[in-house]
Amino acid sequence: QSTRVLQVRVAALGSALVLVLADDHTEARRVEEVRRDFVVNVSHELKTPIGAMSLLAETVEQAADDPEAVRRFAGKIQVEAARLSALVAEILELSRLQVADSLVEPAAVRVVDVVAEAVDRARTGATAKDIVLEAGEDPGVSVWGDRDLLVTALRNLVDNAISYSDPGTQVGVGATVRDGVVEIAVVDQGIGIDARDVPRLFERFYRVDPARSRDTGGTGLGLSIVKHVVADHGGEVTVWSEPGKGSTFTIRLPLLGEDADTEPTVPPRL
Ligand code: ADP
Repeated sequence: QSTRVLQVRVAALGSALVLVLADDHTEARRVEEVRRDFVVNVSHELKTPIGAMSLLAETVEQAADDPEAVRRFAGKIQVEAARLSALVAEILELSRLQVADSLVEPAAVRVVDVVAEAVDRARTGATAKDIVLEAGEDPGVSVWGDRDLLVTALRNLVDNAISYSDPGTQVGVGATVRDGVVEIAVVDQGIGIDARDVPRLFERFYRVDPARSRDTGGTGLGLSIVKHVVADHGGEVTVWSEPGKGSTFTIRLPLLGEDADTEPTVPPRL
């Protein structure tokens, strides 16, 4: 009798193992597909500025005896080169985040510092576009993580808020504490996002309006970087938006307790 039970158990274990293995196999295939898609997308994205530069260089050659035209086209080549360099920087950042899914030297980070630095760095862009950029009050709390990565993530959201808003509008960045979680929200009065685009926003290279994104120097990678950074910190990023009214992107992160000097061994997860 007991042998039978054992046999049944072994058989059950066997099929569970097969299931797990099959699952691993599907996961491996999915990872491989994602990687292949990424390489295809990257090549495509790199070709655009490179193609534009080579076309512009030809035009410069043909306009050699018109100094004004040469200056104009040289300027356009510089714009494309800057775009290419931003794209390469973001691709590197994203692949670094994908390889290491844990933080290198995490520490207690004051939320007010992250907000101040992200807002500070975005200030010039806001002023140039006549957008009023404001930071809210200090929530007086800290999170566990990598300060530079958190600034990069928040900066991406603030830059987007500026890019997708019209002159004369306001962008606000505020942090509030709720149920052991800090919510850092970036609020704009910009063009907003259609509900059907929201689920795809955080995909690599996804843009609602590719032409507008390109005009504002966007790479289509900003929000995937935000998603990765926030996930590595045990948090989540959400979006609320209404076309024509504006958008609010919210980063939610687990709070570091009062006892911020004692390092948690694992980051608390939301
Ligand atoms: P990009 O470099 O194109 O800005 P992102 O990954 O940062 O790439 O954003 C993806 C797309 O999401 C953008 O192209 C834009 O269409 C949309 N988007 C992001 N933030 C906002 C915002 N604050 N308001 C309206 N649309 C936005």
